[in-house]
Amino acid sequence: MPDLAYVNGKIMPIEKAVVPIEDRGYQFGDGVYEFIASYEGHLFMLEEHLDRLERSMRELAFDPISRADIRKAVLNLFNRSGYQRAGIYIQISRGVAPRNHAITPGMTPQIIMTIRPVKEMPETLRKNGATAITVEDTRWCRCDIKTVQLLANSLAKQKSLDAGCDDAIFVSSQGIVREGTSSNLFIVSGGRLVTHPLTNNILPGITRMVVLDISRDAGLDVEETFFGTDALYGADEVFLTGTVTELLPIVRIDGKSIGDGKVGQTTRRLYDLLRKQALAGGAA
Ligand code: PMP
Repeated sequence: MPDLAYVNGKIMPIEKAVVPIEDRGYQFGDGVYEFIASYEGHLFMLEEHLDRLERSMRELAFDPISRADIRKAVLNLFNRSGYQRAGIYIQISRGVAPRNHAITPGMTPQIIMTIRPVKEMPETLRKNGATAITVEDTRWCRCDIKTVQLLANSLAKQKSLDAGCDDAIFVSSQGIVREGTSSNLFIVSGGRLVTHPLTNNILPGITRMVVLDISRDAGLDVEETFFGTDALYGADEVFLTGTVTELLPIVRIDGKSIGDGKVGQTTRRLYDLLRKQALAGGAA
């Protein structure tokens, strides 16, 4: 079975899929997206991803589209692919119209999707931990909306690779640690788990939410609060969370070892709990 694409109701091989050049997603980055992964033939946290997709469209005042229709299209593509461990990318743009900053009324949102096997993180990275650099967060002030405008994220990721590291961590001009280029960030300090609170400056990650729930259920002390680079460098453990990232330890940041430079116990434990939950099909 080839990797498939969906374009406004039609399913086809990815190479055959095209969109009109005056799609506002293409010209203005006027689109939102989701990425959903499946485990052993079931989509993990599907409804939570649909919730966030709806919220993103609402925040940008797209003409509404039926959640039931989106769900049906996602499930249909997933079933057609036959993939057990799939990554489904869903993108919805505001619509197609002659290029104009002003928004043409009555546009029909355009839905495209692709489905492929998930590109798994290298096992050595999971086992030994990843390395990161910090970069100034130059993104816009609505990072809570999952828009396709990912240029700052993409450039930061590339900068980290060029520096011989695995990822970049966004830090505000005031020194507040925000998130990774495609993940949320947690630190473990003195037995307490800390992550940035939900504000306009980070994405409300689905994995972040699952990890917070798992941690509280496991009796860990959890705090959603702001922290700076001193707390980051001085943490006992640091990890990233995301749909593809799952839960990835970071053992070196800006050349400084985190804790003893090895993957920590809490990180390992939470990764196992997250995998268990994902394989079990959702909420425990
Ligand atoms: N922050 C950013 C900037 C992201 O791109 C992502 C991944 N989409 C996340 C956090 C993690 O979100 P999720 O756990 O829903 O994949």
